[in-house]
Amino acid sequence: MNGDLELLLKLQNIDYDLGELERSKEYIPDMMDNLRREIDDSRQRLELTREGLSKAQLEQKDAELQLTERQERLRKLQERMMAIKTNKEYDALVSEIDQVKREIGTLENRAMELMGFIENHEKEIRGYVEKAEAVAGANTEQLNSLQQQIDSVGNKVDEKTHERHSLVSQISKQTMLVYERIHRGKGGAVVVSVKKRACGACYKALPPQRIQEIKIGDRIITCDSCGRMLVWTSESDA
Ligand SMILES: [Zn+2]
Repeated sequence: MNGDLELLLKLQNIDYDLGELERSKEYIPDMMDNLRREIDDSRQRLELTREGLSKAQLEQKDAELQLTERQERLRKLQERMMAIKTNKEYDALVSEIDQVKREIGTLENRAMELMGFIENHEKEIRGYVEKAEAVAGANTEQLNSLQQQIDSVGNKVDEKTHERHSLVSQISKQTMLVYERIHRGKGGAVVVSVKKRACGACYKALPPQRIQEIKIGDRIITCDSCGRMLVWTSESDA
């Protein structure tokens, strides 16, 4: 293969890596934000459920106090029944007793509801605690590894840029001009494999004569359609 082409293949790998490193400066912080948000969300859901539980527990306590108080009142009203003297007093007392009984019924229903609610919340909380711990564990591990990646981006860029300089110094100026022009204009790969007897980038079919020239590889052949440089590789035989 033409010496420049071999060097260009290495160069475009480096350029690809450099591009990825640049992109990682954008997407790694985004990924980290998402991981932190997941941790916060799972904790918040746990907190909200815990708040709901303690509210319900307070209300349950209050309902129990009120029940005790109503039952005590009912007992006293029923005692007074023994000492009733007039029909008028009797009617008033019966209506008061009915009222207290209704209140007791309502309070008992509410206490039952709260018991079910509390049971469900306690079960949910156990699940959310496990979930929050699992999310925090897994995401913290990922966050650490992403932090390491982002810390090393600068060094990697320096390394790759250094490699790039030394490669470029070995490639002819003319070839580099073509490479840079296609790299800027098209983005992505500049040197592409022939695939199914066509340009591997734009799929423009190549005449047999062209393919022979590319196979020989002693000079740089570009695609008539997209201008990329064509090489014959193991992918080309498929
Ligand atoms: Zn092409």
